[in-house]
Amino acid sequence: MQLFRNFKSVTKTAYGRGSFSKLGEILEPQRHNGEGYMVFLVDHYFQGNEAFKARLPILPGDELIYCSTAKEPTTDQIDGLRDDLLARRGLPAGLIGIGGGNVMDVAKALSLMLTNTGNSVQYQGLNLIQKPGIYHCGVPTISGTGAEVSMTAVLTGPVKKLGLKCDWTVFDQIVLDPDLIATVPDDQWFYTGMDTYIHSVEAITGTKKNTFAEAYSEKALEMCRRVFLELDRKDPKSDELLMVASYMGGLSLTYSEVGVCHALSYGLGKVLEMHHCFANCVAFNQLEDVYGAYVQEFKHMVEQRGITLPQNLAKDWSEETIDAMAEVAYNLPHMWDHAFGPDWQQVLDRERIKGWYRRM
Ligand code: NAD
Ligand code: ZN
Repeated sequence: MQLFRNFKSVTKTAYGRGSFSKLGEILEPQRHNGEGYMVFLVDHYFQGNEAFKARLPILPGDELIYCSTAKEPTTDQIDGLRDDLLARRGLPAGLIGIGGGNVMDVAKALSLMLTNTGNSVQYQGLNLIQKPGIYHCGVPTISGTGAEVSMTAVLTGPVKKLGLKCDWTVFDQIVLDPDLIATVPDDQWFYTGMDTYIHSVEAITGTKKNTFAEAYSEKALEMCRRVFLELDRKDPKSDELLMVASYMGGLSLTYSEVGVCHALSYGLGKVLEMHHCFANCVAFNQLEDVYGAYVQEFKHMVEQRGITLPQNLAKDWSEETIDAMAEVAYNLPHMWDHAFGPDWQQVLDRERIKGWYRRM
C-alpha cells in the first residue's frame, strides 16, 4: 500500500554507560554565553538522593524542579509550570527532562508551551502548535515508552488524553545511559519494558506496516526476548539492550501505528487513570484473538519474570465505566484502521470493544 511518513528525528543522541556525566558539556553551548538559565525537571524518585543531585550540572541561576509521577502529565500542570517560570524568571535557555515517559513528556510539552500562548488544551492534536519550542534534552531513567524518541508529548486534558504532536515536540538531544535504569523496581521495569514490545508487535501487525518500521520492530523484539526471556536482570547487557529496544520500538511505531492494545489502554488510562504501560499489559494479556503467538510469548515473559498481573479487574467495573472506556477506545479510528483496515467498522463495534474490557 501507499504510505507516506516524513518525521523529524532527535537531533543528537548520546549513548553509553557514563554518558550522563557529559551532560554539563552537552548543555554548555545552549546556555547563551552564560546569560540563559536551564531548568532541570527531575523525576521525584530522585528527590532526596544527594549523590544523584551532585551529578546534575546545575549552575547558579538554574532551576531544579522535582516532578511527581503519581499522575500522568496534565494540560493544567504544564500551563501552571509555564506561567510560574515566565512570571518569576522569564524564558529559560533550555529544559532537561530526567525521568520516565512522564517527565520526558513534561519537558517536551513545556518546551512548546513556553513559546506558544494560551492553554495547552488547544494544541492537543497533530501540528496545531504555531511556534518552535525552546531547546529540550531528554534523559530516560526507565526504558520502554519510546518517549525519548517520539514526536508526541501525551497530555491528559479535561476532555481528551491526546499528545501535542509536531516536529518541534521531538527532543534536540537525548542522553541514553544504561546505568540510570538499574534501580527501577522489577514490576515497573517489566510493565514499561513491555510497552516497547507491544509497540513493536502492533507496528508490524496492521495495514500500515512497512519495511522501515519492520526493521526497527524486529530488532526491538529480538532485544526484548533476550532481556525478558534469557538474561539475568543483573547482567549489564540487559539494561543496555532494553534502553536501545525502547528507542527502536518508538521508531517502529512512529513509522507505522499502534493498534488494538493501545486503543483499549487509552480507555483504561482516561477513565480509570491506569498507568499507560500497566494498562497495556492488562489489555495485551486478553488479546490472543488478535495478536496470537505474541500474546502467548508475552504470557511466557510474565511467568518467567514472576510478574503479578491482576485478573478479573472487570468484576469491579460498572456498565457505565465499561461504556465510557469503550467510547474512548472507539474514537481512535487511526488505530482501528491500522489494526483492521479501512473497513474496520464492519468487524468492530462498541460491543466487541466492551467484550475485551469484560475479559480483563
Ligand atoms: P513513569 O515515567 O510514570 O515512571 C514509572 C515509575 O518509575 C515512577 O514511579 C517513577 O518515579 C519511577 N522511576 C523512574 N526512573 C526510575 C529509576 N531510575 N529508578 C526507580 N524508579 C524510577 O513511567 P513510564 O512507564 O516511563 O512512562 C509512562 C508515561 O509515559 C505516561 O505518562 C504515558 O502517557 C507516557 N508515554 C509517552 C509516550 C510518548 O511517545 N510520548 C509513549 C508512551 C507512554
Ligand atoms: Zn505505548
